[in-house]
Amino acid sequence: MRGLAPVLRGETMGDERLPGSYDRPLWDVGPTAGWSSGTAGLGPVLRAHRAGYPKARTGPVRRAYEAAERAHRGQSRKSGEPYITHPLAVTLILAELGMDTATLQAALLHDTVEDTDYTIGELRADFGDEIALLVDGVTKLDGSKWGERAEAETFRKMVLAAAADLRVLLIKLADRLHNLRTLGFQPPHKQRRIARQSQELLIPFAERLGMYELKREMDDLCFSVLRPEAHAATEVALAAHEAEARALLEPVVVRLREALVEQRLSGEVVLHRRHLWAVHLDVGDRLDTLQPADLFRLMVLIDGEDRDCYIALGSVHAIMKPVPGRLKDFISLPRFNLYRALHTRVIAEGGKVMDVIIRTRHMHRMAERGLAAHIHDVAHGRRDGFEGRIDLEWLRRLLAWQNDATSADFLESLRGDLRPEGVAAFTTDGEVILLPPGATSLDFAYALGPQIGDHAIGSMVNGRLVPLHAPVDNGAVVQILTAETARPSADGLAAVVTPTARLQIRRHLAAQRAGDAAAQGRRMVAEAVAAAAGVDLLDLESRGISGSVAEHMGFTDLDDLYAAVGKGTVDLAGLVAAITAENA
Ligand code: MN
Repeated sequence: MRGLAPVLRGETMGDERLPGSYDRPLWDVGPTAGWSSGTAGLGPVLRAHRAGYPKARTGPVRRAYEAAERAHRGQSRKSGEPYITHPLAVTLILAELGMDTATLQAALLHDTVEDTDYTIGELRADFGDEIALLVDGVTKLDGSKWGERAEAETFRKMVLAAAADLRVLLIKLADRLHNLRTLGFQPPHKQRRIARQSQELLIPFAERLGMYELKREMDDLCFSVLRPEAHAATEVALAAHEAEARALLEPVVVRLREALVEQRLSGEVVLHRRHLWAVHLDVGDRLDTLQPADLFRLMVLIDGEDRDCYIALGSVHAIMKPVPGRLKDFISLPRFNLYRALHTRVIAEGGKVMDVIIRTRHMHRMAERGLAAHIHDVAHGRRDGFEGRIDLEWLRRLLAWQNDATSADFLESLRGDLRPEGVAAFTTDGEVILLPPGATSLDFAYALGPQIGDHAIGSMVNGRLVPLHAPVDNGAVVQILTAETARPSADGLAAVVTPTARLQIRRHLAAQRAGDAAAQGRRMVAEAVAAAAGVDLLDLESRGISGSVAEHMGFTDLDDLYAAVGKGTVDLAGLVAAITAENA
């Protein structure tokens, strides 16, 4: 078995833009400035396409390029560049994601019908139904005809087309990514509108499709437009903390690597840089509180099978204490998209917490590229058993009633369906606790641990006292007040929505009921033996008499016997007779 590949000092991933071909590791990318402006012509597109599809013919792509170039000739972007640079850049993004020839053709042509005299009929005649469907799916409806409803109806059209062919969404996402990259040439009010719409609709689409690489870049571009000061401050703070964070984390990387070698696992351990928006969501403006874990994740990439990830997890936990409740198994219980990995939080040297992500190489590619990787695999006849993993139930639900919905309702429902699934609340230490919608302070308490949930008596939300059953709002800072004597109650059961909290409270209530029955049963036995033989039950217990009777009757525990008496499942008179006989 091969050993672990050497880990380069300072090797980092996660800060890349869309990477190159599949033959290179995802983080092994050079600067992208040359192609993002799209001036390099069709060459980079064809090279990227051939890297993923060695047998692909270049003719169809060239033909689409020529048609698009002819249609857009004379038009220019706000940047002053020829218009064709935009479809070229969009196509390059898709080529580097490993998309197939038809998608690249449609991407080259994606703005022709919307912005030039070229009609969808001509396009269909020239390139066929498949390409026409893709282009039509991303073509905006004419604002002069549709008015205010244009935006909603355009989305409705796109969702409908996507139901027939998901590649429509990939083209739309690549189109939006390039528009965001070049947003600086637009007037400020338009920048903000596009960024906001991207956050509301396009980025959630990217997440739903498991395309995290693309999502991260879009996140940060929108962040810089909508919160320029916070964006700049976060960037500066991260740069200032980077060396210190690395110095702290690199010994951990080395230790982890050694631990994996001991388990005869092959793979790599790298620092994965978190993107600005993710850091901002975690720490907000409190940049003075930045911890190494805010800057980097430890990424363990395994050359192996799913089960090797669990072995790796074992070695991680063997050298660093896990933080209870922070292990997330997205291998056994995957998310709504293609994402699979193990997540854990551990305490590294000096009491610093550290988030560790463990994935196989295959999981990593799926996690970064989602649907695009899936389509690539299908095109290459590689089936991995995870097909259909993408939950398109939301898409189906939308389609089911989209016929009746007004434009406004449709957009609202689309927004609702794309909203992240739940709320993120903070501890007073700034730790994020993710909760499902409708979760309460009591759910929050149980998310911190059963001890805290069981003894919770109240909650301070954003510094104000609130009842435990009050729902927690997104972004709330929650402090749980506890008392040693407090116990879960039946009321608590009605006040929680999370499975962990429910389970823990039920367990407690069951134990309480059993305890109550045992206490009552013991009282009944004590009175009965006192009446029948004038003896003290405590005396009988201390001499082991009632214990041995319980044993004869098949109870392992005296309390179980008393509980059975309390519940009336054991005959009291018979029991008293047995005890007095044993005592005689
Ligand atoms: Mn476009």
